[in-house]
Amino acid sequence: MANCLFCAAPLRHTFVDLGMSPLCESFLTADQVNQMEPFYPLHAQVCERCFLVQVQEYVRPEAIFTEYAYFSSYSDSWLAHARSYVEMISGRLGLGPSSKVVELGSNDGYLLQFFVTKGIPVLGIDPAKNVAEKAIARGVPTLTTLFGQATAGELVAAGTQADLICGANVLAQVPDVNDFVAGIRLLLKPGGVVTVEFPHLMRLMAENQFDTIYHEHFSYFSFLTAERIFAAHGLTLFDVDELPTHGGSLRIYARHVEDRSRPLTERARKLRDRELAAGLERLETYTAFTEQVHETKRRLLEFLIGARRRGKRVAGYGAPGKGNTLLNYCGIRTDFLEYTVDRNPYKHGRFLPGTHIPIFAPERLAETRPDYVLILPWNLKDEIMEQLAYIRGWGGQFVVPIPDVKVYA
Ligand SMILES: [Zn+2]
Repeated sequence: MANCLFCAAPLRHTFVDLGMSPLCESFLTADQVNQMEPFYPLHAQVCERCFLVQVQEYVRPEAIFTEYAYFSSYSDSWLAHARSYVEMISGRLGLGPSSKVVELGSNDGYLLQFFVTKGIPVLGIDPAKNVAEKAIARGVPTLTTLFGQATAGELVAAGTQADLICGANVLAQVPDVNDFVAGIRLLLKPGGVVTVEFPHLMRLMAENQFDTIYHEHFSYFSFLTAERIFAAHGLTLFDVDELPTHGGSLRIYARHVEDRSRPLTERARKLRDRELAAGLERLETYTAFTEQVHETKRRLLEFLIGARRRGKRVAGYGAPGKGNTLLNYCGIRTDFLEYTVDRNPYKHGRFLPGTHIPIFAPERLAETRPDYVLILPWNLKDEIMEQLAYIRGWGGQFVVPIPDVKVYA
């Protein structure tokens, strides 16, 4: 039996079992489509002691993160989110030319570039070589390594400590969460602040976002569980923002336990109460999630079967990781979804892992005029429906699968 990533209690309870699935970012070339493809269990479990929801490490992290297809800069709304964060946090902490900002999981430098523009010294850390090269090319110094106590120790020995350590959508992807948070504590100056963003488990459950479970995401956090993990490493959560990104995320603010200058905010206290009221410290709340997921699968398949019986054509929009979880779990291949389109040229001419649905440039939609466009990155649905408003010209309609199957005429 496996043990909890954080507290080492035996893992005995299923949160949801999504069956066998390939790695959601392993887009295939035309040659690879005819070869064997590795599938791994996508089984999320919940720890009965600390309530961390987790997917075991079935695949070595090196296999996942050394070449990463996701370039943060391809999403306009994500860039806008990064820019407004930089404005907010530089003001709030009074960052300037003598400060140091370190971002963990810095991707292609999409965020740190805005600090650079303001003259604030930065360092990015990211294990994926191909995205880190992009960052360096745009003037963002970047270390290509998995962050943890070893890296933090080397940086501190070389005289680097941070006033701000930030990370968005990196905590979930860390294979050893204890080593990672312990590394943050080492690297943080005595009066420094940490901000970390992650999808909020309470929203994942309330809004049925089971497709945000991937092999690449080992952990799924509530505020309460994050608080417990940071506290175990001498860091106190003192504030939180609730964000609309990725279907509902938290941005937690942490400081050293010894730093009394930043008291717990009312917002943080209230969120804690809401999580308690939502049952996030009771095992039954988690074990009830599976039935909700089964129902969504039945409803999406019902819609697609009905549409195909009526002779309607369905194409996809986007090729995000979450789309691959959804399509593989539901068994949707080109029999239901002819193709999908994506703005990222890296993906054009490739195929979705597992389902082998081909990926084209967005122009394909206007050429083939499908009756329905299934929006796979449903968290960006407003932005996408605006961009693709032209499909209405031929009577095309949008379908959003999560939280519930919904057609937008
Ligand atoms: Zn645990």
